[in-house]
Amino acid sequence: MNQTPDAPHEHHFGFSTEQVHAGYLGEAGHGARITPIYLSAGFVFDDFEQARARFAGTDLGYVYSRINNPSNAAVEKALAELEHGVGATLTGSGQAAATVALLSVLKAGDHMLSAPSIYEGTRALFRGNFARFGIEVEFVEHPNDPDDWHRRVRENTRLFFGEAIPNPKNDLIDVEAIATAAHEHGLPFAIDATVATPYLLRPIDYGADIVFHSTSKFLAGHGSSIGGVVIDAGRFDWAAHPDKFPHLHQPIVDDADGDGATWIDKFGAKANFAFARAAIAGRFGTSLSPFNAFLLQQGIETLSLRLDRHTRNALAVASWLEQQPEVSNVDYAGLPSNPYHALAQKYYPTGAGSVFAFTLSGGQDAARVFYDSVEVFTRMTHIGDVRSLILHPPTTTHSKLSAAERDRAGIHPGLLRLSVGIEDVDDLIADLDRAFRVLRGENPPPLRSTGPGGGFTPAEGL
Ligand SMILES: *Cc1c(COP(=O)(O)O)cnc(C)c1O
Repeated sequence: MNQTPDAPHEHHFGFSTEQVHAGYLGEAGHGARITPIYLSAGFVFDDFEQARARFAGTDLGYVYSRINNPSNAAVEKALAELEHGVGATLTGSGQAAATVALLSVLKAGDHMLSAPSIYEGTRALFRGNFARFGIEVEFVEHPNDPDDWHRRVRENTRLFFGEAIPNPKNDLIDVEAIATAAHEHGLPFAIDATVATPYLLRPIDYGADIVFHSTSKFLAGHGSSIGGVVIDAGRFDWAAHPDKFPHLHQPIVDDADGDGATWIDKFGAKANFAFARAAIAGRFGTSLSPFNAFLLQQGIETLSLRLDRHTRNALAVASWLEQQPEVSNVDYAGLPSNPYHALAQKYYPTGAGSVFAFTLSGGQDAARVFYDSVEVFTRMTHIGDVRSLILHPPTTTHSKLSAAERDRAGIHPGLLRLSVGIEDVDDLIADLDRAFRVLRGENPPPLRSTGPGGGFTPAEGL
């Protein structure tokens, strides 16, 4: 008897289901459930014709790990799905991701607009390297005022750029407003969403065209490996602007043997993704090691669980800090008192991340005492780790800025940045409380006894 199936019923999986199932490509050899680490530089061609076909792109098998690798492919597929993109390219670091994402669009003679609060490594890339390439980066002053973007657009402007949750000040950008402004000029909007992660925000849903991350942070989570990823929304109409993006309208194979097909002809809406991957990442050689891709995969599978704890802890710590008399300011957009709280409610209903700053009214001297007094927080320049971390940006990450620039950015001498981890929040607050007591001239005992029973030394095992 013929039975017709029930009418199609579209079921959408939740994020936590996607993060453990997305990207699974199957494993042909032995049925391994976890995509193995394929540490192989190259992949065998069965014969002459297959080698030719792989280079021609008519056989999509693997060729060489700078270009593609099964361990990396599984993670790329997962991240593209989690971000609602059409494709992802893993890179060796977040800096490499910024380089690939932006150089896929920009060339010498171009101009781009950037929101003012961005990662200092990206700022150095713009100031030093992009300037040497003849690419001019101009910073808008008021990123959430579309007119500030509009009035700076020039005939050679090619891209708008911003960072979802800037650190240390949490001065959130209005993603949708900036994407809309870019599109009004026929320009793509690229966003660094490292601190948000796709669990808290999917910028593509708000109009972003290119999303990139340092996967060294929350996506990996364990703090063991550097990495990056560039994800393409596959929605921007590159074909409509041959004047602005001539490279995508040129033949892919620029020689007499080529068929003359352009990136747009061959890849359509995915033209920029294909160009970024093959012509930028592939040639600049920014590939991620399959070993690090594997570690990243392990991190992604618990992203939502970690972020729920990170953001809950961050809100509790920020609320507690706000009550301390020595604290003049807490820059956590999740606090109702924060000027960016309305944007946080729109874009980050699940939680406004866990990287933020607070400022001690006692200035740098107070920051130094506080910094040297913590025991649970790790003194380190990293964020998004399962461990809580603390840093003094004015003398480290932001030390290359002039005092006037730091002042304008609200990075005052007493500012400390926290990346709140997944520890028990009572222990984090006890640690900070103890540091305040040191600051007040008290002499509190250490939180953790290092006496008998407090530890095991290798010598004891002998
Ligand atoms: C860390 C970071 C980067 C750079 O990433 P790396 O992996 O360190 O190269 C870029 N953007 C943001 C927001 C970051 O936090």
